[in-house]
Amino acid sequence: MRTIGLIGGMSWESTAVYYRRLNEQVRTRLGGLHSAEILMRSVDFDAIVSLQKQGRWDDACKILAGIARELEEGGAGCLLICTNTMHKLADEVQQAVSIPLLHIADVTASAIKAGGCGRPLLLATRYTMEEDFYVQRLRDHFALDPVIPDQADRVAVHDIIFDELCQGVVSDQSRQLYLDVIARGKARGADSVILGCTEICLLIGPKHIDLPVFDSTMLHADAAVEFSMTKQAPYVRTAQSV
Ligand code: GLU
Repeated sequence: MRTIGLIGGMSWESTAVYYRRLNEQVRTRLGGLHSAEILMRSVDFDAIVSLQKQGRWDDACKILAGIARELEEGGAGCLLICTNTMHKLADEVQQAVSIPLLHIADVTASAIKAGGCGRPLLLATRYTMEEDFYVQRLRDHFALDPVIPDQADRVAVHDIIFDELCQGVVSDQSRQLYLDVIARGKARGADSVILGCTEICLLIGPKHIDLPVFDSTMLHADAAVEFSMTKQAPYVRTAQSV
């Protein structure tokens, strides 16, 4: 089993989900007292959000790349950035290390393709929904045609992530708002839903939604376990695909 390196804390509410999922998956595979080999570095999220808001992505990149190197030096065999948004910096972080970074969009898109879907509604932060780094990857690398919520819905979805979910607040009112956004996406032709922010699984999941759901948190964690145990996850980036 290779050690899984986690760049976490963005927010810790979702990193805790990763931690549980990784260990559950290893126990499911190996049974008994087996658990995942994990090396985690968890940041103070307030500092990262401040850099995001100021558009200081280069400074955020220095932090994440430095952590990636620490994890590699500490023995990690692969790397997860435990947030969709910070995959804006994934290429630079990958370049800082020689171990593979499992890209959350690749893992999620692979599952969508395997599930026979092609027009997923993307629920995520505004960075992820509005910038190219994620949406264009879904289009260019996987020929998906993501449905992006309209501006008012993007703002509402984003604000609930930062003002509530990242702070441990889960409300029925916000769940209903998300379900209304999904209904509007479905009316526009969405055939599935990407939970494209690692905290959204705290609010909604397959039991609430009448479309196939692709939860980036669970898929990312499961891919890490697959890679850790088999070294063969198909969506792992190679030198050729970077
Ligand atoms: N965890 C969130 C995500 O998956 C948002 C937090 C962040 O800005 O990194 O995008």
